[in-house]
Amino acid sequence: MQVYGLIGNPVGHSVSPPMHEAAYEELGIDARYVTFEPSPESLGVALDGASALGVRGLNVTIPFKEDVLPLVDPDPLAERIGAVNTIDFEGEPTGHNTDAAGVTRAFEHHDVSLSGTGVVVGAGGAGRAAAFALADEGVDVRIANRTVSRAEGLAEEVPNASAHGLDGLDALLDGADLLVNATSVGMEADETPVPQSALHADLAVLDAVYKPLETRLLRDAADVGATTIDGAWMLLYQGVEAFEHWTDRDAPVAVMNNALRASL
Ligand code: NAP
Repeated sequence: MQVYGLIGNPVGHSVSPPMHEAAYEELGIDARYVTFEPSPESLGVALDGASALGVRGLNVTIPFKEDVLPLVDPDPLAERIGAVNTIDFEGEPTGHNTDAAGVTRAFEHHDVSLSGTGVVVGAGGAGRAAAFALADEGVDVRIANRTVSRAEGLAEEVPNASAHGLDGLDALLDGADLLVNATSVGMEADETPVPQSALHADLAVLDAVYKPLETRLLRDAADVGATTIDGAWMLLYQGVEAFEHWTDRDAPVAVMNNALRASL
């Protein structure tokens, strides 16, 4: 039996175990997906232990995505993003970032063309993954963040990107094709980082927030006729990408999607 898992703190309510185990069952793979919650001080020991015990792969979540980077051999994308969310223990442990594919594959699933101008709101982990993912597809990326200096730092690293605050979003979204909310706004309260006046019918809007699934941003976007994509699609496709990396097989996407949504 192969062992996969998720390492983070806390990981108690993660939907990754049912999502991955549904895929193993569908494809007849003898594997389990379990959660691990080490203290920050024991992260390195935990990864060495996982490697020694023959764990095949781990996803990584808050607060360890950045801390894992120096402990594995990161691929170029993970290195540019500065965060690892997937570790492959075959041979020397390598680090990957599938949040980026989570963004692009969520748009592609909804037949949204990855071109034109994209506005990424947020410059934390999810914002970094979204900005690099879209820029690598040739999208002109505009990064808007509450802390403007953080947007500026990211825009210096991302090809053809510009940096902005949150107060100019009406102008920024005028003529834009894609919008990603990569802030945590919308999770705790029924709030949105983007005024409805800035939204329009030609936008495809991806909200990284997946609890709740229907955020105020997505309701506002649907009201103006925009294409809306909830955060479970990004969560699904980061998992699909990790599954395909580890197993070298096509993921049963619909099965994983059903299991994920049933667990949210
Ligand atoms: P993070 O690194 O802590 O970044 C948080 C971001 O939110 C920063 O840009 C921060 O701005 C902004 N922010 C926080 N509170 C704000 C407020 N009141 N007003 C405006 N901006 C605010 O977090 P993260 O890991 O990027 O996660 C961000 C969100 O994406 C979370 O909801 C997370 O659950 C979600 N996410 C979803 C997926 C998925 O697969 N669907 C994957 C990863 C993350 P400052 O820089 O100014 O602090």
